[in-house]
Amino acid sequence: MSIVELVREAGVVGAGGAGFPTHAKIDTRADVVIANGAECEPLLRTDQYIMDHYAEELIAGLKLVVNQVAAQHGIIALKRKHRAVVEKLQSLVAQEPNIEVLLLDNVYPTGDEHVLVNLAIRKVVPEGGIPLQVGAVVSNVTTLLNVYYASLGHPVLDRFVTVVGEVQSPAIVKVPVGTMVSELIDAVGGPTIQDYRVIHGGPMMGDVLESLATPVTKLTGGLIVLPSSHKMIVQKTRDLKTQFRKARSACCQCVYCTTMCPRYRLGHNLEPHKVMRALGGSIEDNVEDFTQAYLCTECGICGFYACVHELMPFQANRWVKEKLRDSQTPNPHRRTDITVRDGLMPIGVPTERLLKRVRLGQYEVHGALSVLELQPSVVSIPLRQHIGAPAQAIVQVGDKVERGQLVGEIPGDALGAKVHSTITGYVTEVTDHVVIKS
Ligand code: SF4
Ligand code: SF4
Repeated sequence: MSIVELVREAGVVGAGGAGFPTHAKIDTRADVVIANGAECEPLLRTDQYIMDHYAEELIAGLKLVVNQVAAQHGIIALKRKHRAVVEKLQSLVAQEPNIEVLLLDNVYPTGDEHVLVNLAIRKVVPEGGIPLQVGAVVSNVTTLLNVYYASLGHPVLDRFVTVVGEVQSPAIVKVPVGTMVSELIDAVGGPTIQDYRVIHGGPMMGDVLESLATPVTKLTGGLIVLPSSHKMIVQKTRDLKTQFRKARSACCQCVYCTTMCPRYRLGHNLEPHKVMRALGGSIEDNVEDFTQAYLCTECGICGFYACVHELMPFQANRWVKEKLRDSQTPNPHRRTDITVRDGLMPIGVPTERLLKRVRLGQYEVHGALSVLELQPSVVSIPLRQHIGAPAQAIVQVGDKVERGQLVGEIPGDALGAKVHSTITGYVTEVTDHVVIKS
């Protein structure tokens, strides 16, 4: 089997983003493959752990993809502050003629694919485009680890998750995909406070969970437990009508959100202050400004860092994107010949300053995090953990399944990803999830 077929069989999806099926991503030709170990979201430590403890496997996975796409070289990008990991990787790649290590400053959002590509190869990905358009394939380090295991015939079954914040003993927890979030919180000693919420993912881009009975997926890199009254939770859960009312009356058009926007600085036609200004009118009356929202990654800098009035342009952009898609308004912003806006500050904001601004500094763990492994007796495995069509269940209630057995198949020729049982047991429920009890 080719590596593309092996990766497809293993159900590998992009572990650091929206879950694009990796077999489709690497079935191409490119000049360079970038292993994204930037892990720029504050507090998260999962990728650092992977690069430290699975360095050889990561490099092997990177080489497999470099060979597959016939790239000239591969780059492992990580923050220079992770000195021990940097030294380990540099020593390992010293023997590899076409693999190098790129050191990044401790800046958010260096892990944004467009920002990372610019840092690595000095090219700007087109508006609304993907790195491949400038010859790059970007894969998260966990994804590349999974590619390596796929080459050995092992499907994606487990996930390392950073669990931090208001918990007794912050840790990295290894769990089978489908484990409930509540079990991870319990595993780190439980919350230190009664009234708390959990952010799924990084604190900047992650969503606040409605329920702890939510399963870990192939994409879950972090769980951040915060007081319900914490600024991040309040802002992320505030209803959009209230936001927009505030935005219309309070936005002074100072343009800080625009000058600090990473995509604007890259040269893209994204000026969040214009979207904020346009909120007073209808989408039909100002398609040019509203459609800029399509270029927004929702990194959160404009709202959580730039805006002195604590308005949230990225939430406006999210709302606008939904409305545009509902009305089938296409993205007209597709420029390819783009130059970085020089003369502005460097792209991104220093993470230390960001942590203070969003009042998360107290939750940063400076030493090594302990590592735990959970063996749950029940898992609820979503059939859709990826971009594309949901997997189709091929098991029924009552079936006995082994850990690693295929339970969800890609429908026909659709873009999608296979799903496997992550524990041995019996199928007790099949809906949009497959529930398995040991
Ligand atoms: S930073 Fe805030 S006040 Fe200034 S233009 Fe942007 S949204 Fe408006
Ligand atoms: S969230 Fe704000 S800062 Fe980030 S890309 Fe979107 S508009 Fe720019």
